[in-house]
Amino acid sequence: MAANRTFSIIKPDATRRNLTGAVTKMLEEAGLRVVASKRLLLSTAQAEDFYAVHAERPFYRDLVGFMTSGPVVVQVLEGDDAVRRNRDVMGATNPADAGAGTIRKELAESIEANTVHGSDSDENAATEIAFFFQPDEIVG
Ligand code: ATP
Ligand code: MG
Repeated sequence: MAANRTFSIIKPDATRRNLTGAVTKMLEEAGLRVVASKRLLLSTAQAEDFYAVHAERPFYRDLVGFMTSGPVVVQVLEGDDAVRRNRDVMGATNPADAGAGTIRKELAESIEANTVHGSDSDENAATEIAFFFQPDEIVG
């Protein structure tokens, strides 16, 4: 499959523990290239929008609170089969279920504070990239 793109967030639990570099290293070692990156504080409205698909879930308010609790690093990642490749290196949502060597197994604190977000489809990747980046901010 040709090189394509996905969207990643290094979550507040990771920036708080100074793990931006450690996470990025694992992404790079998995064959992904960071072609855009910025650190920012999500507003409540941005976090609500971003996770709107989970609005009816019992953990939604906590999730929005967590995602706005500190800086995040939003990134565009490029690589062969980028969405699947990134999901593979992230590991399962719950770090207790994540495979050895995955980011969540090695670094995550809990099912909520699970260190990274990654797009789950090419369509969502395109939407999420456009949510945070202008085309000229992405340099492959
Ligand atoms: P993400 O969308 O962040 O990449 P994911 O696709 O693995 O993670 P989702 O089911 O989309 O998982 O859940 C989004 C996020 O909501 C999770 O990453 C986690 O931070 C939080 N979350 C999911 N399930 C729970 C839960 N049962 N309790 C608390 N938080 C949860
Ligand atoms: Mg998800």
